[in-house]
Amino acid sequence: MTKGRIHSIETFGTVDGPGIRSILFFQGCPLRCKYCHNRDTWDTNGGTEYTAEELIENVSRYSSYWKSSGGGITASGGEATLQADFLAELFAKAKEKDIHTCLDTSGFVDIEKIEKVLDNTDLVLLDIKHIDEEEAKKLTGVGIEKTLKLARYLDEKHIPIWLRHVLVPGITDSEENLSKIGEFAASLNNVDRLEILPYHTMGVHKWENMGIEYELKDVRDANSDDVARASEIIEKHGVKVFNSKK
Ligand code: SF4
Repeated sequence: MTKGRIHSIETFGTVDGPGIRSILFFQGCPLRCKYCHNRDTWDTNGGTEYTAEELIENVSRYSSYWKSSGGGITASGGEATLQADFLAELFAKAKEKDIHTCLDTSGFVDIEKIEKVLDNTDLVLLDIKHIDEEEAKKLTGVGIEKTLKLARYLDEKHIPIWLRHVLVPGITDSEENLSKIGEFAASLNNVDRLEILPYHTMGVHKWENMGIEYELKDVRDANSDDVARASEIIEKHGVKVFNSKK
């Protein structure tokens, strides 16, 4: 039986998918986002090992909350698709128990590796870090091509997605980038929600605790005016930006 490495579990998540959810943070990430708020998930050797059965059992005590709120489980990270075999087992077991499954991913994965996972995935939260290949590489260490390809594939498969974009002042908030994200979202039929996540510095202490330099230390948090401006640019393309405060 495959074992998975889990960094941590959040039991009452309300933002990473619908309803109240157990968020399973997978250990390991192939990206190197300069603003990473989960810096301690990068190391693939860390975390606690679980079988899929153990993990489901561990969080199932919250199933009454999932049921009453339309929630379920979300595989997040780190990058959950890095442990694709384990993730496939986990989601298959979850669906046997009629648990709603959500995959929170950067999309930096070869589709054939996660076909089994997607067979049992109800919703994908997909991050567009930066829509320009070179800019994405500068920000995350990897390009965005695979993410865009996965979005189109999920559209073909009729798997709904929430597209998410972290708005980082001076880095991901250019009119060109936002406009292209709007254009891309409008070209898909499976976008249930498009979210702008304002950049914040709350994860910086994790870098400091690990004695690693945080490159974006001079970048300010994004505020509500930034989000309003970004939403306006994106919405020119006919897609609605989800605003939790409305
Ligand atoms: S994908 Fe997520 S966990 Fe991985 S480096 Fe980026 S922000 Fe951090």
